[in-house]
Amino acid sequence: MAGVYISYPFCAQKCSFCNFASGVYSRDKRERYEAALFEEMKGHEWLWRPETAYFGGGTPSLMPADLLCKLMDAIPGDGLREVTLECAPGTITRDSIRTWVGCGINRASLGVQSFVTKELRQVGRRHTAAVVEAEVRLLRDFGLPNVSLDLIAGLPGQTRQSWEESLDWIERLAPPHVSVYIFEIDEDSRLGNEVIRGGARYGANRVPEDELVAELYERAVTRLEALGIRRYEISNFARPGWESRHNLKYWKLEPYAGFGLDAHSFDGVHRWNSPDTLEAYLGMTGIGRTRIDTGEEHFFIGLRLMNGIEPTPEEWARFAQPIQKWVHGGMLEQDGSRLRLSSQAVLVSNDILQDFIQ
Ligand code: SF4
Repeated sequence: MAGVYISYPFCAQKCSFCNFASGVYSRDKRERYEAALFEEMKGHEWLWRPETAYFGGGTPSLMPADLLCKLMDAIPGDGLREVTLECAPGTITRDSIRTWVGCGINRASLGVQSFVTKELRQVGRRHTAAVVEAEVRLLRDFGLPNVSLDLIAGLPGQTRQSWEESLDWIERLAPPHVSVYIFEIDEDSRLGNEVIRGGARYGANRVPEDELVAELYERAVTRLEALGIRRYEISNFARPGWESRHNLKYWKLEPYAGFGLDAHSFDGVHRWNSPDTLEAYLGMTGIGRTRIDTGEEHFFIGLRLMNGIEPTPEEWARFAQPIQKWVHGGMLEQDGSRLRLSSQAVLVSNDILQDFIQ
């Protein structure tokens, strides 16, 4: 079954660690984008009836209610089983939840990142743990119990102790789904750039060492599992039955249609992206499609799932060499016809997965 991704790239501030195509734009640009996004969805030739939708960004919880409902109406069929709205803490009210539920939203994903005020201020975030607590309660009370909370390991100034504090909050709030990302040091974020050039702005000189970040991640895996929130993908953890149906489509190579800035689409054979700058998106003409190698992607993407994959006979033969190498090295486990990452392989998965791109 297929999914729909809708990008709303507007934020109240640009967080220093963020490498998404998102930011603070003028009202004029925002309104032009909103009109273009609606036109793009309305004019789309739907090849399937979507089962999931995901509003990402950016901060879709800042989206005007009428636009959100219009976009939902532009999705054909009435079979949507999961509709997620990414929310920035501090943007959730009783009225907004009522509107979201009324439009068909049934899952909220909160970009909390940390529950420690010092860490949040350092990266440009304005919320507090108390705000998240109050908003999670509101979401539950007003019909959105399916909540996911995101954390990032590797933020400036993070310590073992402060990480325990964030995990204590997860325990207290008991969400059904948690995502734990590792801060990516790359040139696409101001903080990443500063770390690369050895500077100190944005707290870049206080980003924890890789070994500590790995330890924080492993600690999260252990603590979440003790709470019954099990890892089902490298960065994603859920109580049984609360996994994100939409995100599972990406890892299982099911089709999805993406709309808006830097949105990705996949029809089962081809993959394509819309432009990643607002100017280019607003002047969008055609988008080139790339035919994908489903064998490579089956390994590269599918192995992110803790359940692993069931390679086809052709794939066993084609990838015999890297499979053998990593099974012998203890990084891949073979269980009958399935292949999965071993627990020690998760943090070095990029090196392993790269081997399946030929
Ligand atoms: S982390 Fe979220 S809120 Fe911050 S700039 Fe990126 S998309 Fe916006």
